[in-house]
Amino acid sequence: MFNRNNTTIMPFENKVWLSSPTMHGDEINYVIEAYETNWMSTVGKNINEVEQFCASKVGVKYGVALSCGTAALHLAVKLAGVKPGDKVFCSDMTFDATVNPVVYEGGVPIFIDAEYDTWNTDPIALEKAFELYPEVKTVVIAHLYGTPGKIDEIKAICKRHNAVIVEDAAESFGATYKGKQTGSFGEFNCISFNGNKIITGSSGGMLLTDDVEMANKVRKWSTQSRENAPWYQHEELGYNYRMSNVVAGVIRGQLPYLYEHISQKKSIYKRYKKGFEGLPVSMNPYDIDNCEPNFWLSCMIIDREAMCKQVRSECEALYLPEKGKSCPTEILETLASYNVEGRPIWKPMHMQPIYRMHSFVTREGCGRAKTNAYMAGGIVGKDGKPVDVGMDIFARGLCLPSDNKMTEKEQDIIIEIVRRCFE
Ligand SMILES: *Cc1c(COP(=O)(O)O)cnc(C)c1O
Repeated sequence: MFNRNNTTIMPFENKVWLSSPTMHGDEINYVIEAYETNWMSTVGKNINEVEQFCASKVGVKYGVALSCGTAALHLAVKLAGVKPGDKVFCSDMTFDATVNPVVYEGGVPIFIDAEYDTWNTDPIALEKAFELYPEVKTVVIAHLYGTPGKIDEIKAICKRHNAVIVEDAAESFGATYKGKQTGSFGEFNCISFNGNKIITGSSGGMLLTDDVEMANKVRKWSTQSRENAPWYQHEELGYNYRMSNVVAGVIRGQLPYLYEHISQKKSIYKRYKKGFEGLPVSMNPYDIDNCEPNFWLSCMIIDREAMCKQVRSECEALYLPEKGKSCPTEILETLASYNVEGRPIWKPMHMQPIYRMHSFVTREGCGRAKTNAYMAGGIVGKDGKPVDVGMDIFARGLCLPSDNKMTEKEQDIIIEIVRRCFE
């Protein structure tokens, strides 16, 4: 363990998690209520309450509670009318659950590069994509790590090109852009209650929309598409995607704590920012004038000049330690040796084997991952800047432990561990 100059740091006895569920006590009462009244099904009061709370919180008319965020995204893509062979613009640097539902419907994702200001879909690359593929009618955008993207620009571009927005607000529940909640900007929007999200039901998700007809379609599709008939009558393909009333009980108990969780996460972010002063790194950025993120995960990115050599193949990583420099691999391996969980940035979709042959659009036009093993810093263009923002952030960035149960003392030690990686 580290003892290069001053004190020795010992590994944590209890693991410090990236982001783990935090229960408060009310959750179990709603679960017991469901149990004792035998509403152990996909109907019940917990579901109704959770739908109403989330819709009014986000500021949309209807919420439909579903089994997970991915199911919500799937039905959102279906509502958007994606048909087999249709091209769909998707965020590139995100979790693959943003993108897979497009493929469930036979759509063909085309990936849009990220920008450096919020790490979300780059409006300039999106505009470029419409020049290349004017026929596209659906755009799926995510708000990474709880930070809203450049919503006004993206909405204006989509409006000009008559495209429908599917908003993946799975990570950003509670975050606002110009005072409005994420999950209210697209035609069909989704949030997630997965175990590591800011509010959890152990699992669960919700589709959000202002359109009553569309909300009703999702209710029908998600409960096997039964027609109004005395028997099981089916005209459309159905899914078993509805949320359980037990899961909804957990979410119902969690929801009043949304802002407590956000303020804890914000303190964690600010503590890292202060703790890293003087290091050649910066925190995941956001538009301070217009946004209030939910700070779901605190992330950092290392200055290009302070990166030691790092190579990543498909499933392995190597680095060469260097004085005064570090890299995500060194920091993550070091954190792990102290029983602390961090995580690489989402590996961009255009770099994933499953999606590597799909089109990928950057500000420069149509790009594609040019090599499998690549060096830190990504591919550098004529102007010395990387042409591929997602690959660059993936190479230099990482997610820091952001668990709201992490103590200040634990976080201070983690900050010290990261600082020593640069010695
Ligand atoms: C978690 C997540 C999802 C999927 O939500 P589940 O509830 O786990 O299905 C989708 N998109 C993003 C960006 C996510 O982080």
